[in-house]
Amino acid sequence: MMRMKMAIVGLGALGSQVAELIKGELILIDRDVVEEKNLERQNYRKEDVGKEKAKAMERVKPYKSIVADLNHKNIDILDEAELILDCTDNLYTRYLINDYCRKTGKGWVYSGVIRNHGFVMGIRQGDACFGCVFPDSRSLDTCDTAGVELEAIKKIAKLQVRVVDSILKGDFEQKLIHFNLDKGETALKTKKRADCKACKGDYEYLDGKKEITSIQHQCSDLYVFFKDIDYDTLRDKLGKKGEYFFYENLTIFRNGRILIKADSLERAKAALDRIIP
Ligand SMILES: [Zn+2]
Repeated sequence: MMRMKMAIVGLGALGSQVAELIKGELILIDRDVVEEKNLERQNYRKEDVGKEKAKAMERVKPYKSIVADLNHKNIDILDEAELILDCTDNLYTRYLINDYCRKTGKGWVYSGVIRNHGFVMGIRQGDACFGCVFPDSRSLDTCDTAGVELEAIKKIAKLQVRVVDSILKGDFEQKLIHFNLDKGETALKTKKRADCKACKGDYEYLDGKKEITSIQHQCSDLYVFFKDIDYDTLRDKLGKKGEYFFYENLTIFRNGRILIKADSLERAKAALDRIIP
């Protein structure tokens, strides 16, 4: 079994489980503080409330902790890690880690969980990358762990640890693993995409070009998107004027920021898709 220094990015529902399960030297990275509402689904105790998650997690793993919001400017905090474990809940960070790993040749393991299901995929140099498999940055993103079942979180955490073990043992073979509490586990084949930017060395996220075009949304009925838009063409097409305009339940700004009032992310995305295909 190989030994690798690993970094866990994100210590929420998934990362706090993975940190406890994983064996080996760890760097723990998270920007948040433990809140009372986290205790139900995240691996923290009452006495951790108010502490930074990265610091609180040192209790289970007495390794290096870094309190930071990973972005293209501070990504060198990953430099001492040899394998990166994504336990974040946002796409921007995943594409960023993907760029970083393509550039440095490091491996990483993506994991994501929402409601009753989730995905895990290990990515080494030579494999299909995250951008090859998920080229569309409009894919679903989770907002809060409130909508995620604890059993799904635990299963995805175990699957991520299993993938890490297979990388360390040297018998890893890339697959996109999907797990659903009702249907169980399925493994999907992955394929490199010839037009994948990260694989071609065009690191849009690492270079900071995508900082404001990634999808984000808030835990409310207001969803915030950043899109590459041709503002003037779109505004003229919809018969609007000005530096921003309202259209149905959307507010669209020149810099590509789009606010959408909707009762679910799906509806917000549907509204977005109607005007920006
Ligand atoms: Zn790729």
